[in-house]
Amino acid sequence: MSSSVIDFVATEQRFGAHNYEPIGVVLSRGEGVWVWDTEGNRYLDCLSAYSAVSQGHCHPKILAAMIEQAHRLTLTSRAFHNDQLAPFYEEIAALTGSHKVLPMNSGAEAVESAIKSVRKWGYEVKGVPDGQAEIIVCANNFHGRTLGIVGFSTDPDTRTHFGPFAPGFRVIPFGDAAALEAAITPNTVAFLVEPIQGEAGVILPPAGYFTEVRELCTANNVMLVLDEIQTGLGRTGKLLAEQHEGIEADVTLLGKALSGGFYPVSAVLSNNDVLGTLRPGQHGSTFGGNPLACAVARAALRVLTEEGMIENAARQGARFLEGLKDIRANTIREVRGRGLMLAVELHPEAGRARRYCEALQGMGILAKDTHAQTIRIAPPLVITSDQVDWALERLASTLTQDFS
Ligand SMILES: *Cc1c(COP(=O)(O)O)cnc(C)c1O
Repeated sequence: MSSSVIDFVATEQRFGAHNYEPIGVVLSRGEGVWVWDTEGNRYLDCLSAYSAVSQGHCHPKILAAMIEQAHRLTLTSRAFHNDQLAPFYEEIAALTGSHKVLPMNSGAEAVESAIKSVRKWGYEVKGVPDGQAEIIVCANNFHGRTLGIVGFSTDPDTRTHFGPFAPGFRVIPFGDAAALEAAITPNTVAFLVEPIQGEAGVILPPAGYFTEVRELCTANNVMLVLDEIQTGLGRTGKLLAEQHEGIEADVTLLGKALSGGFYPVSAVLSNNDVLGTLRPGQHGSTFGGNPLACAVARAALRVLTEEGMIENAARQGARFLEGLKDIRANTIREVRGRGLMLAVELHPEAGRARRYCEALQGMGILAKDTHAQTIRIAPPLVITSDQVDWALERLASTLTQDFS
C-alpha cells in the first residue's frame, strides 16, 4: 500500500467506529463493472455494494435523472404531495404487479415497516388478540441491523449485547416446510424469509420449498413476506426471485438496486390489504418517497428493463456458474448460486476466504468473503461474456493456490 492509501485507512481507523473490516483498497471512481483506486488501479467489482449497484457504477441515465431532479426539487416531506411519487408508484406497481407501495429509505426500514404492517393487519383483519402477533423467521437470516431485526437474528455477532429485544418472533430452519407448518399458530401473522439467503453465504432452498411455503401460508391466512432486498430487481436472472418458484408473495421488500446505488431507496410492496391498514400518522419517514429518491428509482427501474439487464444476469450468471464449476481446485468445496448471485465455498483446510479475496485484489478483482469459508461473487448485471471469462481466468489461478 502506498503512503496515501495508508493515510486514508489510518484516518478511518482513528476516527471511525470499527464496525467494518474493509479490504485494503481505497476507491475513488467507478464506471459500469469497473472501479478504480486512488492510485489508478482498475478492478472488476464482484460485490456491487452487496447488489446495490446492479445497474453498474454511475449509470449515465440514472445520473442524469438524479442531476435533473436535484436542480428542480429534492425534498418536500410527505406533508405535501410531489410530482415524482405518483409516477414512481405507478411504474413500480406495474412492473411488479403489486397493489400498494410504501416508500422508505434503507432496506432495514423496509423490513421494519413490513413487520409493523403485518402485525397491524393481524390485529385488525385476521383478528389476532392485541399484543399476541407472532412472526416466523429463518435461522441464519439477514434482514438488516436495527434493534427489531437483530433481535431475531441467530448470528451471535449480530445480537450479542444489543438486547433486550422485542418478543413475537419464532425461528425455524431455512428450507424446511414441515418446520414452518409446525411453527404456525392461530396468532401467526407472517412468515418473513429471503428467497436465497445472501449474507448466510448464498444458500438456496431445496426445489419446491417455496411452493409448499406459499400453500401453507395461504391455508393458514399467514402473510408471506419475501425479503427481496438483495435477490430482487434482476440479481438472480428474474425481476423477482419468487418468479423462479412460480409463486407470489403477499408482501415484497425491495431496496439496494432500487436506486442503482445512487441513494438509499427502499419499498414495501403488497398484493393486498396489508399496507391498507396504515392510517395517517401511524407510520412515516421524513425522506421516504422524496422526489429525488423517486426520480432516481424510476430511472434505475427503467434502465434495468430497457437495457435487458435481467436477461443478461440470467445469461452471464449461467456462464459464470458453469465456468466456476469447471475450475479444478482442491480448495473448492462447492460453487452455487442463481443468476449473478454466486458463491464459492472453500474447504475448511484451504484457509480463510478473506485471504483469497486479498489475492483476487492483486489480480484486479474485488470480491468479499462472507463467514470464514465463502467468497461471494455478484458483479453488476451489465457484465459481458468477455468480462466473465476474464474474471474466471483470474479466479481459477487464485483458487488453485494454497493459503492454508
Ligand atoms: C442488505 C439487506 C438488508 C438491509 O438493507 P440496508 O439497506 O443495509 O438496511 C435487508 N435484507 C436483505 C436480504 C439484505 O441483503
